[in-house]
Formats: sequence, structure tokens, C-alpha cells
Amino acid sequence: MEVIFDEFGPEKILEVYNPKVGMHGFVCVDSSALGVAKGGIRMTPTVSIEEVAKLARTMTWKNSMASIPFGGGKAGIIADDRQISPEKKQEIVQAFAEEIKAICPSFYIAGPDMNMAEGEMETFAKANGSRKSVTGKPKSLGGLPHELGSTGFGVSHATIVAAKYKKLKIKNSSFTIEGFGNVGWFVAKFLTMQGAKLVGVSDSKGSIYNKDGLIFEKLCNIKEKTGSIINYTDAEQHPSTDIIKLKTDILVTAAIPDLIKAGDVNEVNAKIIVEGSNIPMTSDIEEVFHKKDVLVIPDFVANAGGVISSYVETINGTPEKMFKIVEQKILKNTEEMLKTSYKKKIMPRTAALEIAQERVRKVCKVCKI
Ligand code: NAD
Repeated sequence: MEVIFDEFGPEKILEVYNPKVGMHGFVCVDSSALGVAKGGIRMTPTVSIEEVAKLARTMTWKNSMASIPFGGGKAGIIADDRQISPEKKQEIVQAFAEEIKAICPSFYIAGPDMNMAEGEMETFAKANGSRKSVTGKPKSLGGLPHELGSTGFGVSHATIVAAKYKKLKIKNSSFTIEGFGNVGWFVAKFLTMQGAKLVGVSDSKGSIYNKDGLIFEKLCNIKEKTGSIINYTDAEQHPSTDIIKLKTDILVTAAIPDLIKAGDVNEVNAKIIVEGSNIPMTSDIEEVFHKKDVLVIPDFVANAGGVISSYVETINGTPEKMFKIVEQKILKNTEEMLKTSYKKKIMPRTAALEIAQERVRKVCKVCKI
């Protein structure tokens, strides 16, 4: 693999080392046309410049489509956090933050990604010396906690717009959710509050289904007490992967990548699929669904609530302000994408990409960059 350059970016790639600590990492600023590049830091043993550049490009489109004043960026630190002590992990994050100070927060704002959480973001902010350098910080440092459920809240609003386009009333529409973690749990909560009927849910241990509806509070209690939704009584039991086959109006993905494979398309029993998780299927499979008149709301539009919340964190917004802005932006952008998709008869992902690219091009033209 190699980094691909085109008219949009990347603008900067910084590779940093601290041999004493054993830190090796990189930051990619893909585009700063719409603002300072924003994207998380991932720590894995295999992360590469190419992987980070690809993810930074995705952030360029995601932030543009979310209509927040951020460009696209991403960072990576090569380390296996299962093989190092928690103290060593913090030391590596601290060294990384110190080494990228020259571009952070002036060109890049960090955040959590794989194997990075609130504690690491706190270490990062302290080492950088500016709270503005990173989002996903603890509340005590002005962070907006993950537990508020901004991503799931945004996914539920994307679902409401999708239902309207499929001429379904969200009240009484049935929905299933793959995954009952941070994203899935909040989607279940917010769609249930809208009157939609949760009929199926999965986690890593299995799926459960009841066409008459699952009781959300009971499900939460079971998950909390026993660690899995499969211990819910009064529901059919199925393997985890069967969640895609269960009869429902709306399927929300909220766990693993590549959930739906090419051979699964005819087994999917939903009119709408909302991608709460990242890359639950390839864009080729999305195209097949489009031809079958199944509406797929793409990940970078549906799950942008988290990065919108990050933006609100950078302007010191309250949780109330965050919910208001996530709702407004997700409703507006999903609507704009679907309007273009229906008008031009192109799949929603293609429409969203067109809109996101146009927004970046427009700024580049005005500023002559
Ligand atoms: P999480 O770890 O909180 O929850 C994941 C859930 O998936 C858990 O309930 C787990 O049991 C379940 N799961 C694991 N393997 C499964 C399987 N094979 N089948 C069914 N369920 C399975 O993670 P999360 O934060 O909810 O993130 C879920 C997805 O959404 C990921 O793809 C993530 O990249 C994406 N995402 C998350 C956010 C966010 O703010 N949390 C933002 C954007 C995208």
C-alpha cells in the first residue's frame, strides 16, 4: 500500500519517534480546507502511515458532511497495548503528544480511536499543554463524556429521516440492532422514545427476537446483570450473525465491520439499513441494496454524532447544546443526502460524497488553495 495524493490531500504527514520511550507514531492532516484537521489516534501493533492516511480522508468527508468547521485528520501509534503496562501506555501517549506539539492544535486536533480512551486523552492534553489539542477528555477537563451517547443519538435521527423517505411512520415501525454497546444501546433508547418497536437485538453471544417487541428497560437490566442480552426471557434465540435475517422494517448496525457479505443480501429482511458502525458492508454491496430498493444510510453520515459532539467540546458547549446541535445537523445532512440521492437516482453514499466533496471544493476555490 502507498499513500495516494490527489487534489484534496493529504497536506501534511508527520512521523515522530522517541527512541528512549520506544514511541513511533504519525499524524496525517488530509485536508484543512474546512478547518483544523480532526480525527482520533489509534494505537495498534500494525497501524501504518497508509492506514492513517486512508482514515484521515474518510474524516475529511465525514466532517464536511457533518457541516462542522473541521478538516480531516488521523493519527496512529505503533504499540500493542495488551503487551505493555498501563504506565508504559501513558508514557508512550505522553511522548507522542510532546512530539506532535508543533502541529497540534494549530493544524490537528486529536481524539480517541482504537485502544484510546478518556485517560489517554487526559494524558495527551496535559502533555500538549492545551485543552484545545484533544477531545474526548474527562469532564473535569471540559470533556463531553462518551456516556452521553451522542453517536447513538445521531444515528436515531438519521433513522427518523430515512423512515420518512421510505414512507414509514417511525412510531410503530419495527427495528433490530446489531450490537448493544455504546452506539446500539443509545439507538435502542432513543428510537424506543420515538415510539418505534425494538423487535431484535444482538451482542457477541447471540441474537434475540420477539415480533411483538422487547422491553427496553428489561433488556438493559438483563445486559447489566448477566453481561449478555441472550438471557432475556420471552424471545426467540438465534446466532449473532442472524440479526441481519430477522424480519424488521429497520436494521441498525452497531458492532462489527463486514457484517453483511455479498452472499447475505437476499437474506436481509429490512426496508432500511442504518450504518451506526463503520464499514458494516462494502460500497458494492450497498449498490446491490440500492438496486433492490433497500435504503442504506452510510456510516459517515449516520454515525457523525460523535464528531459533532467533539466539535461542541472544542467550543466549550454543554451536553444540552451538544444534543441540540447533533440533532439539527444529522437531520439536515441526512435530508440533503437523501434529496440528492432520490433526485439523481444514485445511492445515498454517492450522493453524500458528492455533497462533501463539493463543500471542500467550494472553499478551495474561494480561498484559491
Ligand atoms: P462497544 O464496544 O461499546 O459495543 C460493541 C457491541 O457490539 C457490544 O455490545 C458487543 O457485545 C457487540 N458485539 C461484538 N461482537 C459482536 C458480534 N459478532 N455480533 C454482534 N454484536 C457484537 O462499541 P461502540 O462504541 O458501540 O461501537 C460500535 C461500532 O460503532 C464500531 O464499529 C465503532 O467503530 C462504531 N462507531 C462508534 C462511535 C462511538 O462514538 N462509540 C462513533 C462512530 C462509529
